[in-house]
Amino acid sequence: MPDVTAAPQTVLSAYTTLRLGGPAGILTVATETDQVVATVRNATEEGRPLLVLAGGSNVVIGDAGFDGTVLLLRTRGIRVVEEREDSVVLRVAAGEPWDDLVAYAVEKGLSGIECLSGIPGSAGATPIQNVGAYGQEVAHTIVAVHAYDRETRTLRVMPPAECAFAYRASVFKHNDRYVVVEVDFRLARSAESAPIRYAELARNLGVEAGDRVPLQQARDTVRKLREQKGMVLDADDRDTWSVGSFFTNPVVSAAEWAGLGLDAPHWPGDDGTVKIPAAWLIEHAGFPKGFAGDGVSISTKHTLALTNRGTGTTEALLGLARTVRDGVRACFGVELHPEPVLINCAL
Ligand SMILES: Cc1cc2nc3c(=O)[nH]c(=O)nc-3n(C[C@H](O)[C@H](O)[C@H](O)COP(=O)(O)OP(=O)(O)OC[C@H]3O[C@@H](n4cnc5c(N)ncnc54)[C@H](O)[C@@H]3O)c2cc1C
Repeated sequence: MPDVTAAPQTVLSAYTTLRLGGPAGILTVATETDQVVATVRNATEEGRPLLVLAGGSNVVIGDAGFDGTVLLLRTRGIRVVEEREDSVVLRVAAGEPWDDLVAYAVEKGLSGIECLSGIPGSAGATPIQNVGAYGQEVAHTIVAVHAYDRETRTLRVMPPAECAFAYRASVFKHNDRYVVVEVDFRLARSAESAPIRYAELARNLGVEAGDRVPLQQARDTVRKLREQKGMVLDADDRDTWSVGSFFTNPVVSAAEWAGLGLDAPHWPGDDGTVKIPAAWLIEHAGFPKGFAGDGVSISTKHTLALTNRGTGTTEALLGLARTVRDGVRACFGVELHPEPVLINCAL
């Protein structure tokens, strides 16, 4: 995550993985949960706009910035709050870097999040869009989300049923009612990974789907695959100056899928829906890796990542996103939706 040990800068591009975003009204750094709650409560009571920013890896902030309080969430801590013979519950501070938590779990022989290795950002943001990759998502392991409720002005413990987890969605996304302060994860005591579900990962591990592998092997293989796609942050690699996937994979009904008549890879869901890979649609609509806009481009390693090459602006990035979205719509009649949260800007 961006370093904030130095005096905070008020230009938000310093705190986003895209390195985009204009000035903040007021910038506040919170290292303790009490500070988080006090800042949120004050802003709410005074009716001031508030933006909670943690790793800045899933936000697109407008060039005009954010004229309100920006709360940089930097709380830390992982503690065991429940121990059973076969599992433990870890309570994790919202600001804890996600990949540090995964490394900790792998080292301690705790299984369930190893395939989420290498994802940037904070633990507290993972429930927001039910972070997922390589066959795992945090909804599989979250047992409670501790959140400050700005409506009732109380701290609440929300069980998974209240979180409404779905594909890259939850009750928290596009909803500033809740500020997550801690998250509880139940992880299995096992030196082996959860069953490998993702075909590409199984292939690279040399196992069948459903097999288990040593935790460290799962972590290393996922990180290697992600690095090849520019999906692990690297300040020297502009293909990683992104929000990861810019668009979610479109989900359509079986009837819509049949009507599209596409010869595309697809994943049928348990509920009769069909998920279509956005990367395939983008490539086949005529937008290859490296397709460039003004100071921005599609990553040279992955079609789904839109990147800032160093001289981009938010408006240029969104211009590229519009070109891609409109091109896919014109070619296939399928609508692409952005995965990141857009702040003070629109697609
Ligand atoms: C290279 C790269 C690869 C990525 N790969 C993946 C991937 O494989 N899978 C995946 O799901 N995502 C992926 N992402 C997206 C991103 O890393 C995740 O969504 C991550 O959880 C965002 O965390 P953050 O701390 O950076 O959130 P931020 O960007 O700081 O915030 C994102 C949103 O959540 C809100 N928010 C943040 N913290 C809190 C909180 N404590 N309480 C309430 N609201 C909060 C913010 O207000 C904002 O609306 C990737 C991003 C990048 C740059």
